[in-house]
Amino acid sequence: MKTELKQYTVAELCDGFEYNELEEKGLYGLSGRLTIQPEYQRNYLYAEDNGKKEVAVIDSVLKQYPLGLLYFNRLPDGRLEVLDGQQRITSLGRFLQDKFSVMSCDLPYRFHALPKDKQNLIEKTTLLVYECEGTESEIKQWFQTINIVGIPLNLQEELNAVYSGPFVTKARSVFSNSRNANVQKWGAYVHGSVKRQDFLNTALDWVSHGEVEEYMQAHRQETQIDELQSHFNDVISWIESIFADRYNEMCGLKWGKLYDEYHEQTYDQQKMTANAEKLMDDPFIKNRKGVFEYLLGGEQDTKLLEVRVFDEATKRRVYKRQTAEARAAGISNCPLCAMGHEAHRTKIWNEKDMDADHVQAWSKGGTTSEENCQMLCKTHNRAKGNRS
Ligand SMILES: [Zn+2]
Repeated sequence: MKTELKQYTVAELCDGFEYNELEEKGLYGLSGRLTIQPEYQRNYLYAEDNGKKEVAVIDSVLKQYPLGLLYFNRLPDGRLEVLDGQQRITSLGRFLQDKFSVMSCDLPYRFHALPKDKQNLIEKTTLLVYECEGTESEIKQWFQTINIVGIPLNLQEELNAVYSGPFVTKARSVFSNSRNANVQKWGAYVHGSVKRQDFLNTALDWVSHGEVEEYMQAHRQETQIDELQSHFNDVISWIESIFADRYNEMCGLKWGKLYDEYHEQTYDQQKMTANAEKLMDDPFIKNRKGVFEYLLGGEQDTKLLEVRVFDEATKRRVYKRQTAEARAAGISNCPLCAMGHEAHRTKIWNEKDMDADHVQAWSKGGTTSEENCQMLCKTHNRAKGNRS
């Protein structure tokens, strides 16, 4: 791969700059010779968070701080595309077009309202650019490994770069598009941000059963995303067909996996919805996110709920009382040992050899309170199993 170090002024870089509001992309620079946002690049992120990052870019220029290296890819026809630096170039282009303002002497200024000398200073600032030439795979490999300034690429953004092609382009138009009317509904179940490719990543994860990279590789040249889209919609509709209410705790659960495991079972929506509501209100459940899997699995695995356990002080009080009563009666302080016929019938266990148990199981309405607590020897507690 060949690389060449070049210098461009801000004015040159932003010559012919266009910003596409609809797609939130900077399009061209260098009089149209530079493509700012090739398809494998990310959406423009610097305008988020009240534009703090794009303002910081302009502040750096005004203070003549270095903006870091830019990397361009030189195509065989001589055109260039930005490999790294699109966020910074888009910030500069948007500022020169008065799309946002910066503070100067405590007042906000758009570019054309700044004093002439400051306008000149910005336009004449030079940026260093590495222009690279190589095969597609060389460039992409390299793009994965360069140290990216600013917001680091996350895994899905990297995969989009590596497996760029018609499939990624089409998939992004659906799952990375903040103007898609479904995004709000999806956000109830899918965690993250559309722009950072979290929805696309989830859709791919679900359809590929966790093999995202293999799936992207296999479908790379396809122009249709039917399977990806219909599987995603199936999972969402399946959730809605079982739980009529939405809870914050539903967001970001492994719905794809739950769908794979349980979608062939039949559920009564009314019953499931009512049970979910009851459990979400249960003060003894510590892990409310586990409620949905617990219900889908037929209310078997209470470990998912992390039902509150007895605290140490309660256990100690119960142990003392039980032991005092057992000594007086001449029987074991484990009530189950005391009922047996073996040697342990009169054994007084140490506290460390006993565990707390719900007399009436939590799943049968028993509470995690002192009145419902008994100490059992470890063997008997294990034998009672996971019925707490
Ligand atoms: Zn026992």
